[in-house]
Amino acid sequence: MTTQSPAPPAPPVRIDPFDYEARPVRVVFGPGRITEVAAEADRLGLRRVMLIADSRAPGGDALVAALGERLALRWDEIAQHVPIELAERARKAAVADEVDGLVSLGGGSATGLAKAIALDTGLPIVAVPTTYAGSELTPVYGMTGEQRKRTGTDERVRPAVVVYDPELTLGLPPEVTGPSAFNAIAHCFAALWSPKRDPLTSACAVDAIRTITASLPTLVDDPADLQARAGLQYGAFLAGTALGRAGTGLQHKICHELGGRLNLSHADTHAVVLPHVVALNTAPGPDWVARLEPFLGADPSRGLWELARGCGLATDLAQLGAHREHLHAVAEAAAGTANPVPVDVPTIEALLGRALGHEPPRAS
Ligand code: NAD
Repeated sequence: MTTQSPAPPAPPVRIDPFDYEARPVRVVFGPGRITEVAAEADRLGLRRVMLIADSRAPGGDALVAALGERLALRWDEIAQHVPIELAERARKAAVADEVDGLVSLGGGSATGLAKAIALDTGLPIVAVPTTYAGSELTPVYGMTGEQRKRTGTDERVRPAVVVYDPELTLGLPPEVTGPSAFNAIAHCFAALWSPKRDPLTSACAVDAIRTITASLPTLVDDPADLQARAGLQYGAFLAGTALGRAGTGLQHKICHELGGRLNLSHADTHAVVLPHVVALNTAPGPDWVARLEPFLGADPSRGLWELARGCGLATDLAQLGAHREHLHAVAEAAAGTANPVPVDVPTIEALLGRALGHEPPRAS
């Protein structure tokens, strides 16, 4: 007879005070469910829809056919960081055609354009995301003019319905897949250390990191693995949910400054910068380090850096097109942004210097 050794005592549980407030959003998730978009438009009572469809994403023509007479206008001019003049033209077209709702198909750029229109018009959005940006679940909008990105929060831009169909992401190229997955992971860390976090945002963030870190390496070998694609989109759903409630901080501010000033890809900057910001915030020994250890190891910043390298992602800002002379202005703009470890200009400039010079992440 074998005797079992007793289980180790469970670590003590500590529940911090929190506020919790749910926001209504309907989420439809599953392969093939793009076919339900017209029914979702009907549930919202929409009769004159503007379809904002990224032509690189599959599904645009299928949506045109499915929306049928509900389709008033198809718009396919989309640009990252949502240039203000583009948003203005698209909004005018929506008003001129008397549309009563927006369907967006594409990544964060398509969702972002729909949000820019909704900000002024209050039109409801049905979002069909085809990357892992997570924007579809947040009340955050962003627009760019004169090389500066303006972001804000307004409940009118949060989509009413989100339809996730992982089949739409089967052809997402590797150079978009990996960085976009890191964009979702960045939302998770922002939620884990946000002063507005609550038990559900933290649980969403941890499970998103579990799912994304398990799914992303599979796609390096087989980009069309539907289960892994569904894993990433499920992770994006959880990450977006967490971000939509807990909000952003230093990581996002740095990426918006890099993107707005230098027109760098938003997701690429997240993938490069995240390990360095995580290293900064790991130093005081927060509780999320232990929660993430099964997926990222004892040092989450190193785990992220290795994951990015292992998946063939760029791990330095120079590869993205940034130069050392750009860093000071970005650091000045980001200094003082909410972060668990307070940051000044020299701290951020040093962090960006490490991210530029392909150095492994470290606290200082
Ligand atoms: P993106 O939407 O620009 O898409 C990246 C590239 O992938 C584009 O070339 C696009 O045409 C292509 N693409 C998209 N789906 C595809 C598919 N299924 N198959 C093949 N190609 C496809 O990039 P993104 O990273 O998804 O979004 C970035 C934008 O979203 C930025 O402007 C960022 O600020 C914003 N964003 C906002 C929030 C928010 O909460 N407001 C959150 C995350 C990102």
